[in-house]
Amino acid sequence: MIVMKFGGSSVANAKRIQHVASIIKKYADKKPIVVLSAMGDTTDFLLESADVALNGKVDISKIEKLHYDTADELEISKEAIDSLLTELKALLTGISMLKELTKRTKDYLVSFGERLSVRMVASYLTKKGTPAQFYDAWDIGFLSDSNFMNAELDDSVWSLIPRGLNDYKCNIKKEIPIVTGFLAKDKNGNITTLGRGGSDLSATMIGAAMHVDEVQTWKDVDGILTADPRIVKEAKNVPIITYDEASELAYFGSQVLHPRAMYPVKKTKTTVRVKNSYNIDHPGSLIVPEHLEKLTPVRAITAVKNIQMIEIVSTRMLGASGFLAHIFNVFLKWNISIDVIATSEVSVSLTVAGNLDLTGLLEDLSGIATCSVQKDKAIVTIICDAAHSSAIMGEGMKSLADVGINPDIISQGASKVNISIVCNMKDVITCVKTLHKAHFEE
Ligand code: ASP
Ligand code: MG
Repeated sequence: MIVMKFGGSSVANAKRIQHVASIIKKYADKKPIVVLSAMGDTTDFLLESADVALNGKVDISKIEKLHYDTADELEISKEAIDSLLTELKALLTGISMLKELTKRTKDYLVSFGERLSVRMVASYLTKKGTPAQFYDAWDIGFLSDSNFMNAELDDSVWSLIPRGLNDYKCNIKKEIPIVTGFLAKDKNGNITTLGRGGSDLSATMIGAAMHVDEVQTWKDVDGILTADPRIVKEAKNVPIITYDEASELAYFGSQVLHPRAMYPVKKTKTTVRVKNSYNIDHPGSLIVPEHLEKLTPVRAITAVKNIQMIEIVSTRMLGASGFLAHIFNVFLKWNISIDVIATSEVSVSLTVAGNLDLTGLLEDLSGIATCSVQKDKAIVTIICDAAHSSAIMGEGMKSLADVGINPDIISQGASKVNISIVCNMKDVITCVKTLHKAHFEE
């Protein structure tokens, strides 16, 4: 048994869906369980339609056109689409009348994207002679907490999912399951979502709970690359990478997998493979528990752009323990997560997401420290075996010195698989290119 996950761009239109169907068919003898995202930018369109509804207008023309045109081209029935779109319109009418949009309603709203795509793909596959059955994730056991828009799966899913898919596993039901990614329900029956990009977690959760041979996530490039190919044209395939390295990649800007997607497969040591839907025979990238062979120490270079750097200097000469405890408590109070950090006894430099409003945080910190915030910063991360940090840093820093880049922060992650540096936004492309060249091209 395998899990095959296709993201939004893989099912963005009729042509893509036909292609995906042909890939699924090719793997039919491996007993696939398919996980899908919403078509193309449907999730964004749905969120836009909510904003429009708040202003008193119900408009789903983009969503309607995309799904009806696709159904026409695929020559499948529009019945399921009709009924979902009617429900969607009713919901938006409600939002437009109440002029109110809670997180719970938002989750109900965005759920239509995935619910539409699985019905269409299952129907098309069946029409083409590969019997398939769509499932809304809750039908096969996706239970979560009620943290709408970023829900956490309940531990009971480990037994609920195998129960939900048991008939397929035991060959009682032969239709290939086509399951909505991203979605779950809480114990009160409200629809929840697992955070943007959450379909990866849906896929790895199913894969782990079902103990499949492999979870495949299908992309448009040859698996995981050594850098973003839009920045570095010399970027090449990373054949093998560990769960920890892949998690760091996800946290530090690579679009490979949702950061939370690694935790279920890490538990069961289930292999994940990132495949290219345009190059089916390419092995892609394998994500494994640990490296068994000796490899060169650097895996990839990634970047997170437009972050803010905060420099905090103690005004009270507190000891480091009290000082840090106080600072972290203020961050906790404002629910602001810190990405990269470097500290000395009386000062701390750290980074946070670029879009956050820091007013309250800075006010609270002003009692014990002077703070300065610099926007337009970026984090560049070397995903590597940090056991070789001196050699990696030596080479990297020399090459950066040659192009005149001096990092604001240098930090080696506790997970021992990353070295991150913070630099100016204007230097980020040069920085990635330079480090890539130093580690992969010479
Ligand atoms: N459709 C959702 C999103 O766009 C979930 C996903 O694609 O994984 O975030
Ligand atoms: Mg999407």
